[in-house]
Amino acid sequence: MYAQIAKRIEESKRIAILSHVMPDGDNIGSSLALYNALLEMGKSAEFILDDTVPKVYTFLKGAEAVNKPDVSDDFDLAIALDCGDEERLGSAREYLKNKAVIVIDHHISNKGFGDINLIEVKASSTGELIYNLLTEMRVHLNKTISECIYTAMVTDTGQFQYSNTTERTLRIAAELVANGVSPSELFGKIYQSQPKSKILLIKKALESLEFFEGDTISCISLTYNQLQEIGAAPSETESIINYARDIEGVEVAAFLKETEDGRIRVSLRSKSKVDVSKLAVSFGGGGHMRASGCTISESLDAAKKLMLEAIIKEMHGGE
Ligand code: 5GP
Ligand code: MN
Repeated sequence: MYAQIAKRIEESKRIAILSHVMPDGDNIGSSLALYNALLEMGKSAEFILDDTVPKVYTFLKGAEAVNKPDVSDDFDLAIALDCGDEERLGSAREYLKNKAVIVIDHHISNKGFGDINLIEVKASSTGELIYNLLTEMRVHLNKTISECIYTAMVTDTGQFQYSNTTERTLRIAAELVANGVSPSELFGKIYQSQPKSKILLIKKALESLEFFEGDTISCISLTYNQLQEIGAAPSETESIINYARDIEGVEVAAFLKETEDGRIRVSLRSKSKVDVSKLAVSFGGGGHMRASGCTISESLDAAKKLMLEAIIKEMHGGE
């Protein structure tokens, strides 16, 4: 599969790299790793994203060159990264049309919307799959490419602590450190340089913290008005859900966020028993067993009620 992808890339003249809206560290890191590597190989490539790069990832090389989906479509290959389905590309999904499509992802809910689909659900991150690909292609992993891959891995593994962290993940991370990555420098940039507005959002979100089913389910929410009042970017809610999850006895955490169009974005997390990807898929979303998301077209209260009922049902074995 890697050899097949390498061949396709070598045969292509102009490559579009696409990833999902509401970008996270794996999305940005894996896409920029591939983007920088393609440029090093002398290829013509663009990273096209229907969203803005969260501030904490703007230090990565190539972040300044990310395009909105308004560049002319003269590509002969599109590579979609870290994206469970076409819808998640937002309007960048237009670039899938009339060309070869390669999908590289690690989401269990990904059905494979490409001509070539590299979906490895055991991989810690899409960044890890890009590491495999670039190694197969014998691309030299310089410091800047290594920083992109490290960022993808460290963010998707909860700083190398979630169950998707394997011996291989840590061996790759060690190699990236050998290539010049400084874990403490990146920790400073990614985790210790939060915009003040993000911390104010956390403060506001925690006021809404509620518990259900004998404190095994926790739930937090934010209205669009609250986001507006604080002046925070929608992407700044990334990881707020961890506060609800990381509580003794909590198995499932839900975070509901009202968006500008009035729909409700739901993030779900679980610790060890409940498969939250199943729950998200049942609402038209997707993700992983321990982290998933979906969008519900209801009011905040109605969405919360629907989601809680579904979580409780799933906790009791789907009955
Ligand atoms: P988050 O809660 O951080 O937005 O997302 C958790 C995980 O679920 C991520 O891996 C993300 O890509 C995936 N995910 C979130 N929302 C959706 C969605 O609406 N559709 C799909 N397919 N995956 C989602
Ligand atoms: Mn990912």
